Amino acid sequence: MRFISTRNPADAVSGSTAVLSGLAPDGGLYVPESFPPVSMKEIEDMTALDYPERSARIMSLFFDELSYDELLSITTRAYSTFDGDPAPLVKLDGGLYVLELWHGKTHAFKDMALSVLPLLMTALKSKAGQKETCLIPVATSGDTGKAALEGFSGVEGTGVIVFYPDGGVSRTQRRQMVTTLGDNVSVIAVRGNFDDAQTAVKRAFGDEKLKEELKTLGCKMTGANSINLGRLAPQVAYYFSAYADLLAAGQIKAGDEVDFCVPTGNFGNILAGYYAYRMGLPVGTLICASNDNNVLSDFLATGVYSLDRPFIKTTSPSMDILVSSNLERLLFEFAGRDGAVVRGWMNELKDAGSYDIGAERLAEIRKKFRGGYALQSDYAETLAELYDEYGYLADPHTAVAFDVCASYRDGCVSDVPTVVVGTASPVKFAPAVLAALGEEVPDDDVKALRKMEELTAFPVPDSVYALFGMKERFNETIDPSDVPSAVAKFAEKLGERA
Ligand SMILES: *Cc1c(COP(=O)(O)O)cnc(C)c1O
Repeated sequence: MRFISTRNPADAVSGSTAVLSGLAPDGGLYVPESFPPVSMKEIEDMTALDYPERSARIMSLFFDELSYDELLSITTRAYSTFDGDPAPLVKLDGGLYVLELWHGKTHAFKDMALSVLPLLMTALKSKAGQKETCLIPVATSGDTGKAALEGFSGVEGTGVIVFYPDGGVSRTQRRQMVTTLGDNVSVIAVRGNFDDAQTAVKRAFGDEKLKEELKTLGCKMTGANSINLGRLAPQVAYYFSAYADLLAAGQIKAGDEVDFCVPTGNFGNILAGYYAYRMGLPVGTLICASNDNNVLSDFLATGVYSLDRPFIKTTSPSMDILVSSNLERLLFEFAGRDGAVVRGWMNELKDAGSYDIGAERLAEIRKKFRGGYALQSDYAETLAELYDEYGYLADPHTAVAFDVCASYRDGCVSDVPTVVVGTASPVKFAPAVLAALGEEVPDDDVKALRKMEELTAFPVPDSVYALFGMKERFNETIDPSDVPSAVAKFAEKLGERA
């Protein structure tokens, strides 16, 4: 399988180039040259496989430089860090399920891909004969950062430096990051919001002077944000896995459609669902759920993507995003894979802050996608209702999806089963969960966790309590314009270590 850029589909590259660079040189995102087909028979066969096997099957369709056995050893190692089944499907009622993707080490769905990516990168790097250290600058809205730090900490030939929006992540998320051990990791707060941090990191990737400087230090920048193809492929696998679980449990027959409702920010998770559909999975509707930052639901209603709106900090910070990077991959498909059209829209977004894909293309997208949003007060109510009705404790991000899903199901007559994708564990957001349940919120984070655990019997792992007793190793705050120099400084430090 070869990969092409969304902005210039003429040049195809190998999987290792796509994964090891992250972004295409023209600023576009790498997409598969074609969607590898998966037959219903192959999907049915998955019912007998465990999660690492299912994942390796799907990954092998994308990365043929590695053998199935090599990929299986990667997914087996990656998912051995999880607590039990990496992607269990929980039934709530008749046709409503939740796919829990937060049983990894950092308690959010980012672990599904970021526990695989470092191993995949290392394997592809050795096949490609790349000697340089992979230096990985990451912008995070809260969960990617810790998952990347955990994934790459101690991995030979790599270094990861995380930039998070100062004051824009939950206290537990911040704690998780700044206490990370290892000498190939760094964490820095950036003044501004997530979009500012993401833009600064994207700029660093295009900074020729920085690239030269890193070269002399034996480093090469690699992206690990959700635009990296090595994150997308492992995410495609859990859509197939959920379907196989529904089949195995006799909840559906082979060929039946299933809807998925996904709490969305950078559009990586839901895009993987769309890829699964293009590969042959019987997906009905993909419901894109936003929080108060409803740029995507507006886009899916009007065809206009507009940044002319305030950035709102919410209790679901990992979805506080206005520039949704992976949407470019969807646009590419609905622009007839015409790179010039995509380039035009992206330039309009950069120069004028908006673009309009037109009524016809929107109608095509809406054959598969619906968007909706839930405001903070609404999804807090939904979180409490879910707990009352099913005894199910959802985190605020997952509650956004449940809220949007309820509105969608109310308005439609079909009885297609719906899988809500659960993206984080409540333990990452105890204060917001307690507030949603109408409880008084203790100021102290450990007390909040303990109160949530006592009230709901939701088990909080010891490792989460322990975070609050650990030493904070990183406390630097910088301006977005200083991101390149921070990356260079980190490269020097990595060099001294080697
Ligand atoms: C990252 C994240 C999201 C958004 O996922 P995207 O792939 O960026 O759309 C939603 N919920 C949680 C908890 C996350 O960490």
